[in-house]
Amino acid sequence: GRPEPIYKRVLVKVSGEALMGPDAFGLHQPTVDRIAADIAATHSLGVEVAVVVGGGNIFRGVQVSSQGVDRATGDYMGMLATVMNGLALSAAITRQGTQARVLSALDMPAVCETYTRPRALAHLDRGRVVVFAAGTGNPFFTTDTAAALRAIETGCEALLKATQVDGIYTADPKKDPTATRFDRLTHDDVLHRDLKVMDAAAFALARENALPVIVFSIHEPGSISAVVCGEGRATTVAS
Ligand code: UDP
Repeated sequence: GRPEPIYKRVLVKVSGEALMGPDAFGLHQPTVDRIAADIAATHSLGVEVAVVVGGGNIFRGVQVSSQGVDRATGDYMGMLATVMNGLALSAAITRQGTQARVLSALDMPAVCETYTRPRALAHLDRGRVVVFAAGTGNPFFTTDTAAALRAIETGCEALLKATQVDGIYTADPKKDPTATRFDRLTHDDVLHRDLKVMDAAAFALARENALPVIVFSIHEPGSISAVVCGEGRATTVAS
């Protein structure tokens, strides 16, 4: 039969790199459209979907901190990059026939709505996909931390972290051919084994709030809708 979702509300973290497709920089429109189609398909299963977009395909704060621009300014530039990605992703989701809204942690009313928790909850309740942009709104943080934060704030049952690989491995599978993938881990396992899932601030938030984190590959077509149905290759981190 038709796959049944196991969650009512999820947050999907889409890195900037994921939107780059085969290119070395920026937005690869066919890739953006493919990810948007998967998000729309997930939504059409009856799941409320929030998204946090990264900005690494355009700009990362640390890159410029070595080149004369101070780190905080570089980070604000990185946050602006995530807003561009958010606008592109939201437009692509809308083209799929699913309503979407961009909510930015930095106030830019001419461009998109400003993030407030009540506004985000209202959009989710009305069946709109919300795309959270500008990370946490603070320098020295990452969009992974924003993903954990927004997931907890808006009552998402899981953080779906789309990555370049299909889960968490004992070692980097691109470097070590003997690396094996975990199906399931606890938050404590990740800490004790020193596995790299998200940065420390993001992971601490997830762990303290018992937020399940599901790591899966963005390259696999339909992987988001598979994961919300408990299918597909992934590693689930849950307490
Ligand atoms: N950023 C920030 N605060 C945040 C989120 C992001 O300062 O809360 C900046 C930071 O410079 C970061 C850039 O935005 O390098 C892009 O975000 P990130 O690197 O998390 O994107 P991803 O790796 O997911 O593409």
